[in-house]
Amino acid sequence: MSASVFFPLNRQQVVGVIGGGQLGRMLALAARRMGVRSVVWTGGLEAPAVEVADEIIDKPFDDPQALRDFCAKATVATVEFENIPLATMRGVAETIGLHPSPEAVGICQNREREKNFLRANGIPCTAFWVIETLDDLTSAMTELGGAGVLKTADFGYDGKGQLRITGSENPADVWEKFGKQRAVLEAWVPFEKEISVMVVRGKDGETATYDPAENRHRSHILDVSIVPARVDECVAEEARRIAEKVASALGYRGIMGVEFFVKTDGSLLVNEMAPRPHNSGHHTLDACVTSQFEQQLRAVLGLPLGSTRLVSPCVMLNLLGDFWPGETEPPDWTPLLSTPDTTLHLYGKRRAIGMRKMGHTTLLGTDALEKAEALKAAWGRSSVAPD
Ligand code: AMP
Repeated sequence: MSASVFFPLNRQQVVGVIGGGQLGRMLALAARRMGVRSVVWTGGLEAPAVEVADEIIDKPFDDPQALRDFCAKATVATVEFENIPLATMRGVAETIGLHPSPEAVGICQNREREKNFLRANGIPCTAFWVIETLDDLTSAMTELGGAGVLKTADFGYDGKGQLRITGSENPADVWEKFGKQRAVLEAWVPFEKEISVMVVRGKDGETATYDPAENRHRSHILDVSIVPARVDECVAEEARRIAEKVASALGYRGIMGVEFFVKTDGSLLVNEMAPRPHNSGHHTLDACVTSQFEQQLRAVLGLPLGSTRLVSPCVMLNLLGDFWPGETEPPDWTPLLSTPDTTLHLYGKRRAIGMRKMGHTTLLGTDALEKAEALKAAWGRSSVAPD
């Protein structure tokens, strides 16, 4: 390798991470392992990343002094969640550089922009209508003529800000119930599976994808990712191809998650994009040559990308708050720690409230799903189940 490859690391780059959640924490851990310093801007929120970052800025994202401090401490920046004010991202981008760009994150943080981007680039997605008024909703429901889901245009994740409709409701009642917010109405997709692809695009436009993950949810929160997804090889190939197309069309630099619905005929529709490391890529820490977090650092620092090769089939099981017998009382870890070829990742969150993401475990091997189900049963939880 040429000396230039190591140049950014030798220069003691400091990666700035906007957001301090578990993704920021795992990014900061990857940075430490690579000898890169990190500064995490928490937004003033509870931040699992503060325990591992080298420096912390514990101020809201719209604080101008915090923006100046962040840009003074970091030499280049990235985001670990997408709901960051565009003006803040632009300020960082102009001063030290932000990867992915504010424009790319701005598209992914808003469903209306995201769907319009997909449509404009000929990327298959659910039929949708942008809704501003009751009249829009009335005509969209007539055109749709069946089941759908109304989603807020802004700031939606994990099923929040969504209202399912059968199609037979009175549009005025739906509009009232939804709170008359700007929205996107999507046709309901009778999908067979949900899968996602992690794609990384580097400084010079080089792209790489990971094997698709098959995702199952509990109450709209990711429960397990099964990797590789149990789909035909041609479906997996097509998902990877579409994910690369999304990243290229966005002029993206960094790692992103592209979520798909797989229909019964094997065709794919993009559901949404996450412009950052993604929960369905956590298995890459233990089951792939290069983790999604290291990959993000490589892309952001302008280094060559790493191998995305899956070393072992695996299942990532999210350790959600409802596994905790009490808010501050963790589950008995013995069954997990005595399961062969299994790793434990905890995010250091103090209180297990509701379905909060407290950690995850990766179970390796062809019997990983059975092992995950046994683990759940040991904790008195039902077996891996769809929503
Ligand atoms: P989202 O926040 O848009 O990812 O939606 C959360 C979950 O709701 C998805 O993972 C799907 O399980 C389900 N969902 C969302 N939109 C649709 C749709 N148009 N058709 C069927 N299921 C959907």
